[in-house]
Amino acid sequence: MTYDLIIIGGGPAGLTAGLYGARGGLHTLIIERGAPGGQAGQTDRIENYPGFPEGISGLDLAFKFTEQAQKYGARLEMGTVEKVDFSGEIKRVWTGEGEYTGRAVIIATGASPRPLDVPGEEALRGKGVSYCATCDGAFFRGKKVAVVGGGDSAVEEALFLTRFADQVSIIHRRDKLRAIKVLQQRAQENPKINFYWNTVVEAILGESKVEALRLKNVASGDTWEEPFDGVFIFIGLKPNTEFLGNTIALDENGYIITREDLSTSSPGVFAAGDVRSKAFRQVTTAVGDGAAAAMAAQKYLAEAVQ
Ligand code: NAP
Repeated sequence: MTYDLIIIGGGPAGLTAGLYGARGGLHTLIIERGAPGGQAGQTDRIENYPGFPEGISGLDLAFKFTEQAQKYGARLEMGTVEKVDFSGEIKRVWTGEGEYTGRAVIIATGASPRPLDVPGEEALRGKGVSYCATCDGAFFRGKKVAVVGGGDSAVEEALFLTRFADQVSIIHRRDKLRAIKVLQQRAQENPKINFYWNTVVEAILGESKVEALRLKNVASGDTWEEPFDGVFIFIGLKPNTEFLGNTIALDENGYIITREDLSTSSPGVFAAGDVRSKAFRQVTTAVGDGAAAAMAAQKYLAEAVQ
């Protein structure tokens, strides 16, 4: 059976596209590789999504998005998309489970945390090296942890970790944070948080779990070892576009290039959310993208029929 619309990725962008597609009468399939909700679903509290003045947990918001898309008939299937063929009018998408076909596709696969690429990181992943504070924070009750990075994610997650850890050290390569002011202020006022400015992690040390970090002050050139029980890495994102091969145009960082209507270089293929080359990556902007991409897909399908 050929769907009208296949949406790859079930985060805020994909689920909103699913809602708009299904509610607009398209036979819509969403393929998600893990739990619906994407990165937002792993966020403890979302305070900047309108309609929830008290804030809402990422998990609850993801559940509401999913429920609303399914209520209007979007079908949700689990699977990891491994390969696509967008060359024909009927688009082909393969997961480990088999092949799906659709007349239009929206790619909403988001972005994943970028690794530091330092010695010890891979070997100690899951043994004190983490990329998700909501997932792993509770393991560090009463402990001393490091957070690497200076953006919104690093500061937000450092604040979250103070609920468990006794001490949270933000290690940032410059002397100024990139995070928005309100987060900076909260971190600076939190007695559990301290900062290592102009500092990079050279190696993550430990036998069977994280024991220490080898740090370098880039201003003075000093290097030293500092004991930590865990290290949370938030140094930005990498787009989840590997499965696309060279089927559509990507920018120099691997994000999908789109036109104003979110169409891509391949007719009938649209992109929405964090996977798209754009300036801002927020739940609100992802949701807007999802709606716009679904409406553009609908227009494309209507014109294709004529
Ligand atoms: P980001 O904004 O790209 O920040 C990455 C941080 O990591 C920067 O401070 C950067 O340093 C540092 N960094 C990059 N490469 C590094 C390396 N190799 N070694 C050490 N440090 C490195 O990434 P993000 O914080 O993950 O946020 C991603 C997007 O999600 C952003 O658009 C952000 O606004 C959004 N977001 C929003 C919220 C919210 O609204 N509450 C929460 C989370 C994320 P420099 O500053 O020196 O470049």
